[in-house]
Amino acid sequence: MKWSILIGRPFGVEVRLHLTFLLLLAFFAWRGWSVSGTAQGALSSVLLQSMVFGCVLLHEFGHVLMARRFGIRTQDVTLLPIGGVARMASTGETPRQELLIALAGPAVNVVIAGLAFLWWVLVPRTVEGFDTSALKAPAPLALMIVNVFLVVFNLIPAFPMDGGRVLRAILSWRGNRVWATRVAAGIGKAVAILLGVVVLLGMAGVLPIHQPLLLFIAVFVWIGASQEAQAVATTSLLHDVSVRETMMTEFHVAEPFSTLREVSQWLLAGYQQDFPVVAQGEVVGMLPRDDFFRALAGSGPDTLVRDVMRADFSTAAPTESIEVVLRRAQAAEGAVLTIPVIQAGVLVGMVTPENVGEFVMVRTALRGVGKGG
Ligand SMILES: [Zn+2]
Repeated sequence: MKWSILIGRPFGVEVRLHLTFLLLLAFFAWRGWSVSGTAQGALSSVLLQSMVFGCVLLHEFGHVLMARRFGIRTQDVTLLPIGGVARMASTGETPRQELLIALAGPAVNVVIAGLAFLWWVLVPRTVEGFDTSALKAPAPLALMIVNVFLVVFNLIPAFPMDGGRVLRAILSWRGNRVWATRVAAGIGKAVAILLGVVVLLGMAGVLPIHQPLLLFIAVFVWIGASQEAQAVATTSLLHDVSVRETMMTEFHVAEPFSTLREVSQWLLAGYQQDFPVVAQGEVVGMLPRDDFFRALAGSGPDTLVRDVMRADFSTAAPTESIEVVLRRAQAAEGAVLTIPVIQAGVLVGMVTPENVGEFVMVRTALRGVGKGG
């Protein structure tokens, strides 16, 4: 993401701070100062806000680490003024995975709220010779309230909140993910409208609620629901499409004893980026473009394909659903995105992200023609 700075790499995942986030901290410092008129007021306001975002960060890592248990990798986590965003390869392969990943975030806040409550109850008001009253309140109570709020807010059943994913996971339990997303996105939009109406009625003095900030959340929910519906519209183009319809059928095949010099000629001659390695009619490995360049730079053009190819790769059958195959490929950590298609032990095609992208473009164009005519 642009406009963000790297602040650390816990668990091997980049954590970034969006620059608008610093503006928010400055705003809270100013507000703390203007309310109390002291530097201490400004500082405690900033500290409270930092604590909120510390909890948001732990929440995101709840998602990240649960996803990792299912082999789903996370690119990075960015802290924005509206909350945290973890860019994951997938939100879950199955409804069960999606449900557990979505719930893992709020679960972290439930734990923090519980610990804060214990802290608030258990720390004695005074220890002999040492006054802990300053420690006792309001820090534990504030921490608890913040986390209860994060749980409630994130479980609003609307995209892009975790509650929206929980809802979709439950609705798609019996298999229809496209329908489930449409319903969840629709509910999200309804929640956004309801929230907007409540805020406007509050501003007009009809309801005893004065929270203009909720209007931002309403807009945020509306945008999230629309984006999710859009993403599903694209996926639905791939729904019920088989691997056979989208696979690439004209490509070069390497042999275990081919040299990297030969591969480099094929690479230059055409559009193909990743090469299947075939011995006696059987696929024995894959040589992705990035691996090829690394090997070429490392051990030179006379290196044999056999010594640098990947022996662990996933395959697909021509009759499989392309949607399932793509999700499987994207979820595995560091996997080759080009997948050999095998029928009765024989290589008959390759699925590449570029080819599937072209298939989607062709489909979209044809739909346009259908509507126009
Ligand atoms: Zn979350």
